[in-house]
Amino acid sequence: MVQARKFGAAFSIPGEATSLTEADGYHVVGLADGGSLVAHAVLVATGVRYRRLDVPGLDRLERSSVYYAATEFEARLCRQDPVTVVGGGNSAGQAACFLARRSPVVNLVIRHDDLGRDMSRYLADRVEQSPRITVWRDSEVRELIGEEGFEEVLLHQLQSDDEQRVATRALFMLIGAAPHTAWLQGELPLDPKGFILTGPAADGSDGMFGTRRRGVFAVGDVRSGSVKRVASAVGEGSVAIRQVHEFLEAEGRR
Ligand SMILES: Cc1cc2nc3c(=O)[nH]c(=O)nc-3n(C[C@H](O)[C@H](O)[C@H](O)COP(=O)(O)OP(=O)(O)OC[C@H]3O[C@@H](n4cnc5c(N)ncnc54)[C@H](O)[C@@H]3O)c2cc1C
Repeated sequence: MVQARKFGAAFSIPGEATSLTEADGYHVVGLADGGSLVAHAVLVATGVRYRRLDVPGLDRLERSSVYYAATEFEARLCRQDPVTVVGGGNSAGQAACFLARRSPVVNLVIRHDDLGRDMSRYLADRVEQSPRITVWRDSEVRELIGEEGFEEVLLHQLQSDDEQRVATRALFMLIGAAPHTAWLQGELPLDPKGFILTGPAADGSDGMFGTRRRGVFAVGDVRSGSVKRVASAVGEGSVAIRQVHEFLEAEGRR
């Protein structure tokens, strides 16, 4: 931020973009306070909102025992305790396999009965072949139980309507993310999940991070197909700024 200020960047904090329109060849970003910003170029980096389950016990245990990513750091915190992963996509499958290297009991909870529906086949096979992973099909989490620490997760079997308490010390919530693009609906081409299309996928002519609209770029988690990691978001941002400069030069706007 200090560096950006040195180069003359102006900050608007708090500030929420609510619309993106065009006027007289400029891009106009509407703001929640009623104001607007007029620019030759716009770089969208509004990220995503990770989905949470709305279940009893989550608020109480979220800070100590609920995770939204499964890296070496979280795996170490879980030691060899039983853990539960919620989600049926590749992130959940990868997390289950990764956690099973350390924990002998990994529960994977999916709301349907076909593990290969939303997960790559090779990954679904690895999950099914792991003696350490139990797949709870047609099931959902109904409650997180534990006062001092996380003790059990209450699972609801959707077909039989049965409930079962399963011992667990940590919950990994990998149920997807919703991009912050509601304010761009109808203005930029988005993929079916609402992420911004850029580069060849958008038929854009402003390089890899350009959208279909000339002079509007997108980077980081909000971009369709991006790697959802800090380092990649930062890297995309710095490369995109170069593309912004190239665009401005090509348009004779520098
Ligand atoms: C719990 C958790 C743990 C993670 N752990 C890791 C990790 O260990 N390593 C790793 O590499 N990555 C991790 N990630 C992912 C990492 O945080 C993201 O990949 C990275 O922050 C993406 O950067 P970004 O700039 O694209 O978006 P963000 O960092 O999400 O920033 C987007 C910003 O835009 C703001 N915004 C949204 N809409 C608007 C709007 N309309 N107007 C104005 N502002 C708006 C948001 O409030 C936010 O401040 C983790 C994510 C989560 C949720």
